[in-house]
Amino acid sequence: MNLPELFGENVFNDSVQKDTLPNEVYKALRATIDAGKTIDVSIAGTVASAMKKWAISKGATHYTHWFQPLTGLTAEKHDSFIEPEGDKVIMRLTGKSLIIGESDASSFPSGGSRATYMARGYTAWDPTSPAFVKEGTLYIPTVFVSYTGETLDKKAPLLRSMTAIDKQAKRILKLFGIDCKKVATTVGPEQEYFLIPEEEYLKRKDLRLCGRTLFGAPLTRGQELEDHYFGAIKKKVGDFMRDLDRELWSYGVLSKTKHNEVAPAQHEMAPVFSTTNVAVDANMLTMELMKSVAKKHGLVCLLHEKPFQGINGSGKHNNWSMSTDTGLNLLNPGENPESNTLFKLVLTAVVKAVDDYQGILRASVASAGNDHRLGADEAPPAIMSVYLGDQLGAIVDSIVKGQNYVRGEKTECSIGVPESPIFPKDATDRNRTSPFAFTGNKFEFRSLGSQANVSDANIVLNTIVADAFEQFADELEGKKDIEKAANAVIARELKKHYRIIFNLDGYGPEWEGEAAKRGLLNNKNTADAVPVCYEEKNIEVYVKQGVYTKEEAVARADIRLENYTKIINIEALTMIEMAKRDVIPAVSDFVAELCQNLASKQAVMENLPCNAEKELITKLSDLNDKTAAAVKKLESDLGGINKEEVRASSQAMAHVIIPDMQEVRKLVDEMETLTSSDYWPYPTYFDILYGVN
Ligand code: ADP
Ligand code: MG
Repeated sequence: MNLPELFGENVFNDSVQKDTLPNEVYKALRATIDAGKTIDVSIAGTVASAMKKWAISKGATHYTHWFQPLTGLTAEKHDSFIEPEGDKVIMRLTGKSLIIGESDASSFPSGGSRATYMARGYTAWDPTSPAFVKEGTLYIPTVFVSYTGETLDKKAPLLRSMTAIDKQAKRILKLFGIDCKKVATTVGPEQEYFLIPEEEYLKRKDLRLCGRTLFGAPLTRGQELEDHYFGAIKKKVGDFMRDLDRELWSYGVLSKTKHNEVAPAQHEMAPVFSTTNVAVDANMLTMELMKSVAKKHGLVCLLHEKPFQGINGSGKHNNWSMSTDTGLNLLNPGENPESNTLFKLVLTAVVKAVDDYQGILRASVASAGNDHRLGADEAPPAIMSVYLGDQLGAIVDSIVKGQNYVRGEKTECSIGVPESPIFPKDATDRNRTSPFAFTGNKFEFRSLGSQANVSDANIVLNTIVADAFEQFADELEGKKDIEKAANAVIARELKKHYRIIFNLDGYGPEWEGEAAKRGLLNNKNTADAVPVCYEEKNIEVYVKQGVYTKEEAVARADIRLENYTKIINIEALTMIEMAKRDVIPAVSDFVAELCQNLASKQAVMENLPCNAEKELITKLSDLNDKTAAAVKKLESDLGGINKEEVRASSQAMAHVIIPDMQEVRKLVDEMETLTSSDYWPYPTYFDILYGVN
């Protein structure tokens, strides 16, 4: 494989654009991509025909506007290039069909933000994310808006949030005499996933319908041995990873690192970071490719946050920073962060933003799947806090306490063998418990779920940091001594928001109590986390930064609760069906066999020891009765919920249905450990997690 040649071979990227477009058109397109200039519509025709020609040379016959509706997935509608001409056809892509597409929006969630009679939605080209050819189709990244201009997707607000931060960050830079064309946020999302045998997957209704197991007794030889983490990669998995990398590279996705994760059958892929909207598109494509490549290998890729109870779940670390078009990373502390006022001001803005808007930041990662992870000793707690590490922590402490900062000795590590290199001890976080950690020259937001569209978290991050920048710029512009004035703002704001900084163990039991004392939010599930999004202050910030209108902000919160309610509803229905049609009958059959065995044993010889059978018969009969009763309760509670009213129904799902489901599960999992494997209707955790060799 010639990697440099393979890389981006399916992408209409910068070098292809340069080769195929007239110079003037190329320059106009680059001005939009690099400096955020509004796209000049008159170039669309030329770009479209070059794109089409290139796509056809890659075997494409169709094109699609590729968009990210509020389902959290991607959507596409394929049109062929053909246009009749006499009794022949020609291949055509007009400027208009590149720029705008029409799509029936009525079947996508809109949170009531669009009356159903106006079911028309439009997709509009996003020239800043490159088009690509996949399986005979030209994919054109687009935004999705309604007839009246309301956003119906995750990308339009993401782009708006990037515009907001660009505008405000440039004002901050200007205070320090730095001029640049564009400040873009950058993201590197690390993606965790499970790979399991397709054969076992197909036998489990819960995995097929819900993406996670609803039943399953714990492994006896579990992950406690942790021999999997960074362990040698199995042949079948290695083949998958090689294939996946090949595909990802061909689509220009900068797949960099791959390794085994903590749980058996769990793995991770980390890309090199890129501009946020490009990173989002790449991550959506990555998740799709993981699934389709796995299938080719007889495997299934599970992206759910918690496919297996008792086994570590999957997340997505969102590494985030801001950079100018001239290459300055705004979160680079430099050699002497203590005297780097610009850096300190940027850092302060982030700290302030996370504190002021911890509620919506938490809500941005809330989902039915992620609720199983956050705060469960495997992922960060549901409490938002900022980790700064030793060095920055000490600098901030000295500012808050008004003391001089004394620089700690730079520590170096060596393994104690003279030939081995000495490496500087990393001053930043190696403690993985913080939801929002400074890691050298970026923040790592670690609370995202593995199947999330990372737009959600980044829309909030960009918006709230833009807002903090705006407040600082309003105050500092026109000041004579910027250094002095900025340092005063830094000290004041760090003091005010000091409570959000937490440099110790986020898994420790003391943190919840301490956080409560500090007045930090601790919303443990989606139903409780989302309602803050309806608060005036939390809507206001979107409106002010031009990211959402009030209606859009409310609609997004409604949709999040609606999705949550739908997911729990499907899970509950699946559980009921599995228990009633598979588990209860299977246990009953097994008990019947035990009874027969008992009877025949007793017929042969009256005093033959039969305690094993008797005990099992009694125990399983009792558990099966209790299961039937628990299922009945679940069914009746579920039937009593009015699912039209999202706020009330999401509360009922979180506080009634989930506990009901836990009860059913506890009983069924116990029966699994007592029932003969010949009778148990599903593959066990062992079959699934140790099934790939
Ligand atoms: P880890 O210790 O978590 O493995 P790494 O330093 O290897 O962290 O980087 C993790 C991710 O952070 C990678 O995807 C990397 O591309 C990304 N990253 C590095 N710098 C930046 C940045 N300036 N902005 C956004 N992401 C970044
Ligand atoms: Mg990480």
